[in-house]
Amino acid sequence: MQPKISVGILGATGIVGQKFIALLEHHPWFKITDIVASQDSAGKIYSSIVRWREKTLLYPEVGNMRIKDCYAKLQSQILLSGLDANIAGSIEEQYTKLGHIVISNSSNHRMDRYVPLVIPEVNASHFQIIKQQCLENSKFGFIVTNPNCSVMILAIALFPIHKKYQIDKIIVTTMQSISGAGYPGVASIDILGNIIPFISGEEEKIESELLKLFGKYNNNKINFANIKISAACNRVPVTNGHTLSISFSTKKKIKDYEIIDAIQKFKGLTLPSSPKNLIKYFDDPCKPQPLFDTSYGNGMVISMGNLRPCKVLDWKITALGNNTIRGAAGTAILNAEYIVNNNFQNCYTKLNKNSNKSSNILDSK
Ligand code: NAP
Repeated sequence: MQPKISVGILGATGIVGQKFIALLEHHPWFKITDIVASQDSAGKIYSSIVRWREKTLLYPEVGNMRIKDCYAKLQSQILLSGLDANIAGSIEEQYTKLGHIVISNSSNHRMDRYVPLVIPEVNASHFQIIKQQCLENSKFGFIVTNPNCSVMILAIALFPIHKKYQIDKIIVTTMQSISGAGYPGVASIDILGNIIPFISGEEEKIESELLKLFGKYNNNKINFANIKISAACNRVPVTNGHTLSISFSTKKKIKDYEIIDAIQKFKGLTLPSSPKNLIKYFDDPCKPQPLFDTSYGNGMVISMGNLRPCKVLDWKITALGNNTIRGAAGTAILNAEYIVNNNFQNCYTKLNKNSNKSSNILDSK
């Protein structure tokens, strides 16, 4: 058996950080060796200060660790980041300069030219842009980003349809859970029995990030997809799971059974965190529902249902995803698995050896 690879968790005390810790307890490849949070938490034993919000017990290997601050030297080359977006940008950049690979859930670097925004089952070819990031910035490490949690669900739901029939227009309304706002998040008096019809920056993220995700990597560049998107985002009193009401039209006209067939044939990758089938489709029009349908495939499966004709665009459908697992920590771990499986962590050494020749050093295995 190979020894496990060390990983560090940035923002370890937050909602996403805790999810990383819970998901990595029995991970076959990775073990946690560093946990990092703000100056207020640094120096303290994790179990003594974390407000543990996971349903599994906090295990002693991590519970007994001492939290480091963002200036401490870390043992792990791969860092999984659940840092608050207000501070994540510069801290993550600083780590790449020290030779770390940062896989980030924050929005700060998602749209940077040479930073891949990746869902491995959707656009793994975008990892190629890492080469440009290392060359441009002379960095030892690099940043890879996850999309926004609603974009993650939208992209997985629509990718198999887009791949075959080319989506050209999307209207999406989100109903986003409170766990998506971090901890402690929205005050209970503001959200109980209520809906907040605004989430700062969220609509813009959906309308831009999907175009990068569905873009094509070519000649050291990602050419964005040409799709018109209109998004409306709402915070709703649901603990976990974002639900999306989606209308879309395609360039090639399609029948309902062709949509369902494409969705059901969307297969995962042979990596520990990728499910066998990415989407579960329900014939029952009352499904999916966040209370019951966010745990399939260990939270990595998107649930869909209620496909019907739309009088404005072609079709309407509902999609639901686990925002803290598929929408954040689970996909970041999957990105790390993809990087390790394809040996991208040695990218900088290989670049130096090849001294910027056109060799395809990041070609996947
Ligand atoms: P959160 O619960 O508010 O956690 C934020 C983390 O950042 C905490 O560990 C906090 O540590 C740390 N932090 C804050 N200020 C810091 C500083 N100055 N230096 C170092 N660490 C600092 O937020 P979250 O929901 O986990 O989200 C984390 C990131 O993931 C955000 O960028 C968010 O937009 C993104 N995201 C979240 C979700 C979701 O479903 N929640 C989904 C997708 C993406 P202390 O406890 O010590 O303050």
